[in-house]
Amino acid sequence: MIDYHLHVIAHGDRPMTVENILAYCKIAKERGIRQMGITEHDRYIEDIDLAAFQEARELSQDVELRLGIEIDFVPGAEERMDRDASALPYDYVIGSVHRVDNEEVDHPDHLEIYDKWSTYDLYEAYYANVRKAADSGRFEILGHPDLIKIFRKFPDEDITPMLEETADAIAESGVVVDVNAAGLRKPIGEIYPSEDFLTMLYRRKVPIILSSDAHAADQVGMGFEKSIPLVKSVGYREVATFKDHERGNLSL
Ligand SMILES: [Zn+2]
Ligand SMILES: [Zn+2]
Repeated sequence: MIDYHLHVIAHGDRPMTVENILAYCKIAKERGIRQMGITEHDRYIEDIDLAAFQEARELSQDVELRLGIEIDFVPGAEERMDRDASALPYDYVIGSVHRVDNEEVDHPDHLEIYDKWSTYDLYEAYYANVRKAADSGRFEILGHPDLIKIFRKFPDEDITPMLEETADAIAESGVVVDVNAAGLRKPIGEIYPSEDFLTMLYRRKVPIILSSDAHAADQVGMGFEKSIPLVKSVGYREVATFKDHERGNLSL
């Protein structure tokens, strides 16, 4: 198994030391994860200690380490995104949409955006950004592609056409989708993407990775007891892997 989207530094919670990385590897091993990708938010890029990562990668016995980055996708910030996406010897680059009009949609202390927009329009704008992120060709993996559902604020209208259009754009772009269990720890209480959306992606042969989006060692592999049966029930039999930007795969 792989856990390809997680944070050691998280939101400045701890330094990226060999010891802290190996603490994540220990939990990964206990939970049957054989490949673990560290993907810090790009706003903490200065805190990524490449030497510590490389030393931990040498020392780690049973868990292969990968280095990625989670780029905060914002149209207009191409300079920052390009710089951060090429700053280090990554194995892969994740692009994640957290914002509409450069305002976060997933911050529990800043829900103002949900008052400013009709929920339907906000969803439209969110998925337009997801399609732009896929189309941009900048990313190998698209992070948690339906994050906008995080607070259980749903439009009254049917969003199926919106999701179908987004699944088309994702399939056309060739980007891999992050099946991210962090939603289980949020008000929505379900995996990103939803079963409906994941089914649309499967039908279009979009490859996936699995992740916990852990922000602490004890969250590594968290939620996989739900995400593995989900992806299998939809039809998936393998996950994508990356090494030095080369894509491979692993049976589920
Ligand atoms: Zn994210
Ligand atoms: Zn993340």
